[in-house]
Amino acid sequence: MASVRSITQQLAGMDVAPKPAPSAPTRPAHAKQPSQQNVAKLLTKFAAPNPMGKAPSSSSSSLRPPNTNTNPNPGAAAAPGEGRTPAADPIGALDIGRYDGGFEQDNEKRGEKVYGEAAEELALDSSVSRYVHPTREWNLGTFDIGKPLGKGKFGRVYMVRTKGEPNYVLALKTLYKSEIVASRVEKQIRREIEIQQNLRHPNVLRLYGYFHDEKRIFLMLEFAGKGELYKQLSKHGCFSDKRSARYIDQMADALSYLHSKHVIHRDIKPENLLLGINGELKIGDFGWSVHAPGNRRMTMCGTLDYLPPEMVEQKEHNEKVDYWALGVLTYEFLIGNPPFEDRSGVNATYRRIAKVDLKIPPHVSPDARDLIIKLLKYNPEHRIPLKDVANHPWITKYRPKGLSRGGSDAY
Ligand code: AMP
Repeated sequence: MASVRSITQQLAGMDVAPKPAPSAPTRPAHAKQPSQQNVAKLLTKFAAPNPMGKAPSSSSSSLRPPNTNTNPNPGAAAAPGEGRTPAADPIGALDIGRYDGGFEQDNEKRGEKVYGEAAEELALDSSVSRYVHPTREWNLGTFDIGKPLGKGKFGRVYMVRTKGEPNYVLALKTLYKSEIVASRVEKQIRREIEIQQNLRHPNVLRLYGYFHDEKRIFLMLEFAGKGELYKQLSKHGCFSDKRSARYIDQMADALSYLHSKHVIHRDIKPENLLLGINGELKIGDFGWSVHAPGNRRMTMCGTLDYLPPEMVEQKEHNEKVDYWALGVLTYEFLIGNPPFEDRSGVNATYRRIAKVDLKIPPHVSPDARDLIIKLLKYNPEHRIPLKDVANHPWITKYRPKGLSRGGSDAY
């Protein structure tokens, strides 16, 4: 799709505001967006460095947790380096399923070697990364490969387990370098690593390491045991107040964290959210995120239905774009489709967004309605701050006892 490519190129070139994409289709309710996603998804879930913050020695691999349990997410998936003992880890015992030989089949058919500058750009290896504290060295032989989890535009994703103790279960994602080069997103991948390398939050999908061979890049991702949230939404049509409130609680917490790191996500939507083994929400895609300390951006990006008025009108924007998207998400969870969707075309959707033409069905509870209205304000400065979202009655009402904030157990 030309419009997506142009947006992507402008993103890569860091920010000249393009015109809205008039030919881009609006998103049917719960249909996964293929095109723009293909670009964004590639950049997902990148590097979480060795959390111990130092180069591993032979007796202490980066996968080996420190003695204290620093994982703020007590029920979460096995987390290399997150301070969990394998025996205590519920996911360690998981059956990783049967490997179908897909990596080899793929490698035969697709992908050529990449040379020159692009090869340098894509020589991504967390053991020698200039950005992060190095992790231990990885290669395909480190893992027992299990069942396929899915296919992305640039390669497949498999469930894997490290061969050596403590047998961590991960999602291993391949990206074919030649296809990345053909799509001209090499630089974005590197940038994505820069953005994600230090992100640690129970509701943000981790990437524990990455390595490459001549044709491919491999990403060692946190395994999201319950898969994609949008599939759940498609299955159920919409979510209950309780389920929606708990997801929004976790989202608000994760976004507060990202904003504290000067990361604006800019592409919050159900398709970019995964679910952990306990059903906890994981922001799993940083394709459109931008690292902007004190900086206001003027780039058109994101999914149409989730775009805030300031982006539709091509004005400068800041982290409050994510507040707006949280409002849209709340609405979509509860009602089943985004609030400004207009099947008659993109421009109609834009108009509805710019007018904040918001119609909340009568069955929506007063508290939920109140929060949606407070998030979907035309003026970004008037949107309810995330810390107030966390204290909103609709959120606190459904928060599990004992949790003082969103956290990872709230699902
Ligand atoms: P992607 O290339 O990220 O779109 O991944 C393709 C598919 O693989 C997704 O639609 C998911 O179903 C699955 N997948 C990707 N990453 C993970 C993960 N970390 N854990 C579990 N499944 C995943």
